[in-house]
Amino acid sequence: MTLKNKSVVITGSTSGIGLGIARALAAEGAQVMLNGFGDAAEIEKLRAGLEKQYGVKIGYNGADISKPAEVEGLIKSAAAQFGSVDILVNNAGIQFTATVEEFPLEKWDAILSTNLSSVFYGVKYTLPGMRAKGWGRVINTASAHGLVASEHKAAYVAAKHGVVGLTKVVALETANAGITCNAICPGWVLTPLVQKQIDAIAAEKKISNDQASKELLMEKQPSGQFVTPEQIGALVVFLCSDAAAQITGAALSIDGGWTAQ
Ligand code: NAD
Repeated sequence: MTLKNKSVVITGSTSGIGLGIARALAAEGAQVMLNGFGDAAEIEKLRAGLEKQYGVKIGYNGADISKPAEVEGLIKSAAAQFGSVDILVNNAGIQFTATVEEFPLEKWDAILSTNLSSVFYGVKYTLPGMRAKGWGRVINTASAHGLVASEHKAAYVAAKHGVVGLTKVVALETANAGITCNAICPGWVLTPLVQKQIDAIAAEKKISNDQASKELLMEKQPSGQFVTPEQIGALVVFLCSDAAAQITGAALSIDGGWTAQ
């Protein structure tokens, strides 16, 4: 249990990658504040189940992380409940696809605030506590789309490139403070966010879910396999370890070879 007595906030952890990260950190003994949208009863079932399974305190805060005051409230409530926020995982994110000309203004604003501004808010409100303790880890879920582009994802690609840039600034500003800040850049992970894109391919091409999944993978990901939330959780655990104390400002790919091309 390498993270016993550490407290974590993970945005967007009621589903997908964030939930995988929550499981991995809880398994290492960390107390976790979950965040994200969903059915209240389902989330409570999830929270209580994780608490029982891993024997650590698990909280939940339903802040909308696109709103600065709600992010401030999320960090304050986690610090009040656990005593501190030692690890911040900025993970929540949304997607929308359209050409630049057809991209709705409100979708652009929603993606920029949810996928990029939220990371700024989270870091801004968490760093003072980390500085006071002289230890901290900030891990931002960027994407392969933080390093390279794809058509029809103007807002997402812009936001994720922004996350990689912001990660570097935070790393420089905290380099002597016992704090590291890194971005992880996953390729395709089979989560609800990606299933929607698979459904769209299946509907457009009139093919099965399996065929559509294969097409999605083969277009970008040379391994031909999805990255798993468990693999991303293991990478986050490593970044929180002492072994990773000198890794900061990095954008770490976990993408089956996507960005090697
Ligand atoms: P997901 O849809 O399964 O989970 C997204 C989570 O974010 C959910 O818990 C949702 O409730 C939460 N969320 C969305 N908007 C929110 C808001 N305004 N406030 C609070 N919570 C909010 O998606 P996922 O695939 O697990 O994505 C997680 C992160 O990983 C995102 O940043 C995404 O861009 C990134 N990512 C995903 C993939 C992939 O292939 N799935 C690849 C690279 C990067």
